[in-house]
Amino acid sequence: MNQPPALPANITVLERGWLSSNNILLHGATPEEGAVLVDTGYAAHVGQTLALVAAALRPRENVRLIANTHLHSDHCGGNRAVAERYQCSILIPPGEFSAVEHWDESALSYQVTGQQCERFSPTGKLMPGQTLRQAGREWQIHSAPGHDPNSVILFEPETGTLISADALWERGFGIIFPELDGHDAFTEVRATLDIIEALRPRIVIPGHGAPFHAVQAALITARERLQYFQREPGRHALHAAKALTVFHMLEIRQSSMEDLKEWLLRIPILISVWQRFFGDEPISEWATQLVRDLVQAGALRQQSTTISVRET
Ligand SMILES: [Zn+2]
Repeated sequence: MNQPPALPANITVLERGWLSSNNILLHGATPEEGAVLVDTGYAAHVGQTLALVAAALRPRENVRLIANTHLHSDHCGGNRAVAERYQCSILIPPGEFSAVEHWDESALSYQVTGQQCERFSPTGKLMPGQTLRQAGREWQIHSAPGHDPNSVILFEPETGTLISADALWERGFGIIFPELDGHDAFTEVRATLDIIEALRPRIVIPGHGAPFHAVQAALITARERLQYFQREPGRHALHAAKALTVFHMLEIRQSSMEDLKEWLLRIPILISVWQRFFGDEPISEWATQLVRDLVQAGALRQQSTTISVRET
């Protein structure tokens, strides 16, 4: 492994696992300016998030603002608690503003994915084309649809720092959720990768995993992965179903095989994956095989009828 790259001044990355996204603190130039916190992790990790943020803030510094790249549960699950602790405002991408304001569960992703998110109140929008000023630098806000139709990414040109959320990781990108419902989003993923390339970032802080410098290599990997998924959309859907199942297990840690299967059979997005790609097989057999595959791959552990997840 290469050494993780040094970050520009005034940035702290709280690297998390998979259940919580990374949290990024953009410190103020002075303690009085206050810090911006980009993304707040998953609801089940909120105690850990509060402790990590408190420890990373500088003396006399507060969080003045939460900025969410997108509203998946692993990126905004700590919003409510952090906003309560620091009495700070919350900016979110514009696409889901009204759904969040009214907490419209059917329009937000939590019900369909079987994930939790505590209700919070956004105070403003992160408008693509505008900038967010912090510590004397202007962070550009860019649309980054694909993984999520409403996602934004943040780019600071002086230091060449990109906060890429789940649009680009060192080895790939997040699940392309709209594809699971039958909406074409592969082309959006491609366009977003092109936008990232055109920005010529020198360092990328992804939503998951360590910051990295090797942007061209990451773009090559991402485009190869995208091509593979475009040729084989069923593979993407199966990968997504497995990732969502592991995410659920990371949250609950342990389950009986029966309960896990029962969960799989009632989560709308998993039912949609089965219907669209695997519907010629009974859903219960499909679910059993999916869990078996995850056990075989080492992502889950089975001891008699108990399924558990490895510590991460
Ligand atoms: Zn996401």
